Amino acid sequence: MAGGGRRRRRRGPRRVRPRPPARPARRDAAGRLGVRGVAAGLGRGAHGGRRGTCARPRARLVAAPSAAAGGRRRDGDGGRPAGAGARGGARHGRGRRAGRGHPARAVALRPGAARRGPDRGRRRDGSRRGGRRARRRRFVTHVFDAVVVGGGPGGSSVATFLARGGLRVGLFERERFPRFHVGESLMPAAMLMLERLGARAAVEAAGFQIKYGATFVDQATARAQTFYFLTGQPWPNYTYQVPRAEFDTLLLDNARRHGVTVFQPAAVETVAFDADGVTVSASGEEGPVTARAAVAVDGSGRASLLATRLGRRRRIPNLGKVALFSHYRGAARFSGKEEGNIRIYVFDDGWIWWIPLAGDVTSVGTVMHARTVAAWSGGMEELHADMIRRCPPVAELLAGAERVTSVHREANFAYDNRPVVGDRFVAVGDAITFVDPIFSGGVYIAMRTGELAAEAILEAFRTGRFEARRFASYERRVRRGIAPLFRFIHKYYEPAFFDLFMRPRNHFGIYRAVLAVLSGGSFLHMAWRTRASLAILFAITRANVWLRRRAGLPVESRLEW
Ligand SMILES: Cc1cc2nc3c(=O)[nH]c(=O)nc-3n(C[C@H](O)[C@H](O)[C@H](O)COP(=O)(O)OP(=O)(O)OC[C@H]3O[C@@H](n4cnc5c(N)ncnc54)[C@H](O)[C@@H]3O)c2cc1C
Repeated sequence: MAGGGRRRRRRGPRRVRPRPPARPARRDAAGRLGVRGVAAGLGRGAHGGRRGTCARPRARLVAAPSAAAGGRRRDGDGGRPAGAGARGGARHGRGRRAGRGHPARAVALRPGAARRGPDRGRRRDGSRRGGRRARRRRFVTHVFDAVVVGGGPGGSSVATFLARGGLRVGLFERERFPRFHVGESLMPAAMLMLERLGARAAVEAAGFQIKYGATFVDQATARAQTFYFLTGQPWPNYTYQVPRAEFDTLLLDNARRHGVTVFQPAAVETVAFDADGVTVSASGEEGPVTARAAVAVDGSGRASLLATRLGRRRRIPNLGKVALFSHYRGAARFSGKEEGNIRIYVFDDGWIWWIPLAGDVTSVGTVMHARTVAAWSGGMEELHADMIRRCPPVAELLAGAERVTSVHREANFAYDNRPVVGDRFVAVGDAITFVDPIFSGGVYIAMRTGELAAEAILEAFRTGRFEARRFASYERRVRRGIAPLFRFIHKYYEPAFFDLFMRPRNHFGIYRAVLAVLSGGSFLHMAWRTRASLAILFAITRANVWLRRRAGLPVESRLEW
C-alpha cells in the first residue's frame, strides 16, 4: 500500500515477521474515532494535568527486532520505538543529515512482544501457521518521526517539508487519487510554495490553465472590474487554475519523491496520544495499519479529524452557505490574457464562480444561502441549473455547453477550530479554519500552514520538546497570516466596501494593497505601507457607509444572501 514502484518500495517501512493482532483500538461510546491519552483532554483540564504536561502512557511499548537487523535490537533503540518520545525525537533531530528518507522500522504493539521471539507464528518446519485471513489480521506498527492524516495540499505540503528537513514521515490518505475535489483556483503566492516544495517545475509542465487575474461582475450595477496580478512582487504575476484531481496527485507524488511513506487508501480511525508519542490506526484495503510517531499532523481538511476532537469547531454565522458545482465542456472562452481569469458573478440570490480549466473544461459553482436550498423542492441538479438561469451572463456563456460531471455539493463550510495545536499535535489547512472561497485562498493557506507547521515541528525535534506551548507561536503566525484575508472577505459582503472594491483607485497605494491580499501576500509579509493602505481603505469604507445611508442605499452586509 505504501508508495509503489521499485525504488519507493525499497524506501518504504521494513516489516517484522507478522505477529498476532494487537488489542483492538478502544473506541468512544458512539463507536467513533477514539482520541485517547493526554492530548484528548487538551484545554479542558482532563487528567487533572496542566496544559503541556504528560500523563503516564497506558501501555509500555516494546520494540520488536527489525527483520533486517536479524532479530537483534539496534544500538540505541533502548527498547523504545524510534522517533517516539521527546528524547527519541531529539535523537532523530541530531541524526537528521544521515536520516533523510530512512525507511521506518516496524515494532509490535503488544507488551512483551520482543520476548516471544521472531519465529512466533511459524510451524516447526518453518512454514507459517494460519491462512490468508489470519495473515490479514496480523499487523505491525510502522515507526516514523511524524504522521500526517490527509493527503490534500495541506497534508502533502507539511509531509514534504518535514521529509526535506530529514524526518521520517508517514502519511495516510483515505481516498484513492486522482479524486475530484473543490478548490481549483490558486493564488499567485502559491507559486512560491510550489517552488519551495520542489514541485513548481512539475506544475508548470502539467499544462494547467494559466491565470493572470480575477474579474468581478456585479449584476445589479452591470459593472465589471478586473484585477490583474502585479509584476515586481515577491510572487509571480500569474498562477494556475487546477483540476484538483491532478494537482493533489502531483503534490502527493512529490511528497513520495521526497521520501514520505504514503498509505493510500487508508482511512485513519483511531489516534491515541501518550507520554512518549502518538499511535495512529487506519484501515486500508489490505487490512489495518498502525503507525507510531513523536508527533501527529491533522491535514484531514474539513473532516478535521483531530482538530475537532482536541478542540472545538465554531460555525461562523451567516457565512454558512451552500455551494453546488460541476464541470462543463464546450462553454464560451474569453481570449488572450483574460482567458484564464476566474470570474465571479454577483447577483441577488448569491454568486457564481467561473473557473476556466485546460482542455475546454470550465468549473461553475453556484453559492447561495442555506435558506434558498431549504425553500427548493426539487433536486440539487435542478437548483444548480436554476441558479445559473438567474444570472443571464453565465447562462449565455454556458449555452451549448455540456455538463460532464455530476453536481457536487458543499454546505456550511465556514468554521473555525480552536485550539489547533496540542501536545504532539498540530493542524494545517482546512483542519484549522475555512471561511469563504470568494478570493480562492484555501489551497494556498493549506500549503503555507503546512510550511509553517513543518518549521514548528522541526524546531520541536531540535529541542526534543513536543508540548502544546511549543506550537503556540505556530498558531499565532497562522492566525496573523489569515486575518487580513478573512477581514477582506467579511468586508467584501458590505455594499459600502463592495462599491469601492468595484471602482478601485490607486490613491494611497490602495490598489496595490488590495492586490497583495488577493495574491496571498498578506500571509507572507505585510509591509507597513500595505497595512496603512488597507487601514485607509477601511476608513473610506466607513465614510461610504455614511454616504450610502444619506442616499437611502442599503448598507447591511450581504452575508444574508
Ligand atoms: C465551495 C468551495 C469552493 C472553494 N474554492 C476554492 C478555490 O477556488 N481556490 C482555493 O484555493 N480554495 C478553494 N476552496 C478551499 C479548498 O478546497 C480547501 O481550502 C483546500 O482543499 C484545503 O486543503 P487541505 O489539504 O487542508 O484539505 P483537503 O484538500 O480537503 O484534503 C484533506 C484530505 O484528507 C483526507 N482525509 C480526511 N479524513 C481522513 C482520514 N480519516 N484518514 C485519512 N485521510 C483523510 C481527505 O480524503 C482529503 O484528501 C473552496 C472551498 C469550498 C468549500
